[in-house]
Amino acid sequence: MIGLRRTSVLCIFLALLPFATAQSSNARAVQSWRADHHMHLSSADLCARLGDCPDCECLKSDQPPAVLAADAIKALDDAHVSKGVILSGAYLYARPSVHLSAGETAKKVRLENEFTAAEVAKYPKRLVGFFSVNPLQDSAVEEVRYWGAKSQFAGLKLHFNASAVNVRNAEDRKKVSRILAEAAKKGLPMVIHVGGGNFNASDAELFITEILPSAGDSWVQIAHAGGGMPSRNGNNLAVLRTFGDHIVRNDPRTRRILFDLSFVPAPDDSPQGFAQEIRRIGFKHFVFGSDFSVQMPSDAIVNLKRLGLSAEEMQTLSQNCAPWAC
Ligand SMILES: [Zn+2]
Repeated sequence: MIGLRRTSVLCIFLALLPFATAQSSNARAVQSWRADHHMHLSSADLCARLGDCPDCECLKSDQPPAVLAADAIKALDDAHVSKGVILSGAYLYARPSVHLSAGETAKKVRLENEFTAAEVAKYPKRLVGFFSVNPLQDSAVEEVRYWGAKSQFAGLKLHFNASAVNVRNAEDRKKVSRILAEAAKKGLPMVIHVGGGNFNASDAELFITEILPSAGDSWVQIAHAGGGMPSRNGNNLAVLRTFGDHIVRNDPRTRRILFDLSFVPAPDDSPQGFAQEIRRIGFKHFVFGSDFSVQMPSDAIVNLKRLGLSAEEMQTLSQNCAPWAC
């Protein structure tokens, strides 16, 4: 598993040629995608607390509602996507709106991570999982150590906005850095949702210079290509450009950065601006993601087409796959 995690990003392109040949012999064939790098499940308890599990025909009508691995598999099949990376929603229990004590939160976070592990284990050839924590919670370090010592999960997911992480606050940066360092000790890759709301270019600079070095040699996948919703004042593109400026000058801190394209472009974003930035940074840094069950993979593909990329560029994206997913 460690070897897999450290595989060069060049492996992303290994399977490209056979696919390209198959596609050209059947030019109008449905495009297949190697992996959706950003998906979520939800236990019945989490659905009940958040009250926002999608009521969609393509999801199982369980009583009570839950989003299960079988639902993710169906969504992948509908969009012709082979593999899915499931990011645990455990961090959502620490949202202030959920009103749990620190002790209750720690228990619920563990249960949701266990639920996610059990669901992912039902489809070992199709799904891999990432556990999650709220990095500001005292129990987060213990949770990272707990799962880091096991093999059920391939990595760690963090969501700054939902965890009320303020990167302008030195204490928050210290706590988040400690979690990254703990995950890096185990060689775990990380998916981090940094953006959205007021998160801007100078926040991205703070993240890159003061937090990211704690990830060491671990891969870090920046969710939504650094964006998030709502996007204000063009922040999403400004954040991606900040990462891009470091990447194009070969800053060692950003050499293991990937971006997932879930919700890219966001409704208020400039598709042309994003397409230009993706080309500047290089396609090998970008992977497909949907944010299932918030967005179906098939809809994410339709949204991605708004970028106006060429058929060859879309083909490249469809075959890009992170070391832990393929
Ligand atoms: Zn998400």
